[in-house]
Amino acid sequence: MTGRALARTLTVLAAAVSLAGAPAMAQPQYEIAINNGRVIDPETGLDAVRSIGVSDGRIVTVSKDPLEGSRTIDAKGLVVAPGFIDVHSHALMTPSAWTQAFDGVTTQLELENGIWPVAGTYDAFAKKGHPINYGFATGWHPIRLALLGKQSEDLVDEKTSQKVIDAMETGLEEGGIGVGLTVGHHTGTNRLEYYAAARLAKAHGLPTFTHIRYKNVHEPEGSIEGVTELIGIAAATGAHMHLCHVNSSTLRALPRALDMIAQAQKSGVNVTTEAYPWGAGSTTIRAPFLAPENLPLIDIEPSNITVLKTGEHPASDERLRELRKTDPYAMIVVQYFDEEEPEELALLKQAQHFPGALIVSDAVPYQVDGKYLTDPVWPLPANAQAHPRIAASFTKVIAREVRDSHEMTMLDAIGRATLLPARLLEEGVPQMRKKGRIQPGADADIVVFDLNGLENRATFSAPTLPTKGMRFVVVNGKILIDRGVLNRRIMPGHAVRAPVPK
Ligand SMILES: [Zn+2]
Repeated sequence: MTGRALARTLTVLAAAVSLAGAPAMAQPQYEIAINNGRVIDPETGLDAVRSIGVSDGRIVTVSKDPLEGSRTIDAKGLVVAPGFIDVHSHALMTPSAWTQAFDGVTTQLELENGIWPVAGTYDAFAKKGHPINYGFATGWHPIRLALLGKQSEDLVDEKTSQKVIDAMETGLEEGGIGVGLTVGHHTGTNRLEYYAAARLAKAHGLPTFTHIRYKNVHEPEGSIEGVTELIGIAAATGAHMHLCHVNSSTLRALPRALDMIAQAQKSGVNVTTEAYPWGAGSTTIRAPFLAPENLPLIDIEPSNITVLKTGEHPASDERLRELRKTDPYAMIVVQYFDEEEPEELALLKQAQHFPGALIVSDAVPYQVDGKYLTDPVWPLPANAQAHPRIAASFTKVIAREVRDSHEMTMLDAIGRATLLPARLLEEGVPQMRKKGRIQPGADADIVVFDLNGLENRATFSAPTLPTKGMRFVVVNGKILIDRGVLNRRIMPGHAVRAPVPK
């Protein structure tokens, strides 16, 4: 290098140094700085006081020193964690999504039932916008319903069955992030079709989500047979079979079902599961398992059912039969485990504490007068109905298991709500590798909450009360909940979608 060239290089270097230095002094380095919170990152095991810098929808830095942002949030004394990922939500309507955001959910995925058509649904959501991230599995039942109508609940011939599988494949090619298989709602359908669906999912590197066959704690045709079917097909195909809401699918057979899942996992079979933290389920009164003659299968009586609209507990088989006939779509709550009874709560907790079991909500959207609430109204109308799990599931586990009973560590609980659901999907959905983590480069989906101030207010009679304690909820770098107040004007959710071949 000549002397003149060297001088020129030095001048350029000096200019670069002053350029790098000058703007930092003129304006804050990050769009958002979240300072001095108790930061939880399950992947690295971080549980310590840190500050986070966010710009362009991403986490840029995690620092021991406070940072400067255009917006600076003081998180001292608050927990800062990745936004919760709900792999079991049916509540992808704006007011329901807002309610889930107060439970810390920044990504809601409809995977158990799934949807149809896949591309059309993603397009509609992109067009209208959504407050939090969203994604869908290709839905076996919606496809059967579209192709077969009334026959969708029955065994069908091989040719028709192949059409269902072909449609499912179209859904995966359009970016569906798994295969939803609600065989438990349609117990008479083809076994070979279930097997073919698993093979298809395996070929695409995507998981399947099953509501298992048979709601019956006894044998034969019991939930144990449903668990056996799922494990057998996972073993035969190598597909990742995820068993939905093991709590409400296996009920008093839960300890045996969990043992079978644990043994299958030990044998290298790719099965996983999830649970929601409530002793009661919710559905419409017409559900076949609520027929008076079927109640003994799950050890309950008509009085375990509550009609949400009226608060009535049917006093007899006759009254239940009458209600099923006169108002079949009435929303009900059915009590499986009494959370006030220590022994029953312990049973429910076995599902929540099972190694690797995800926390989910199984949220069903709010209804008003029997119609889904789609209008973006907030606060929710007081007469809106839903199972309160929509408003209090993730924070219920954290409050009950981490804060109150100390039976679960914060890292464990947050991991079940963030990292584990991200890992469940990331083989076939690479964008999930950037979710469920507080690390540089991760998506800025972040919750900031007050552990001591968490208050689950939703009940069966007042399901519209959002959870208190979620101070900030950040979705893709945008602040959706700010100091506990919802910003209704922004729709920062992005699609979670498998890569679509060009
Ligand atoms: Zn289900």
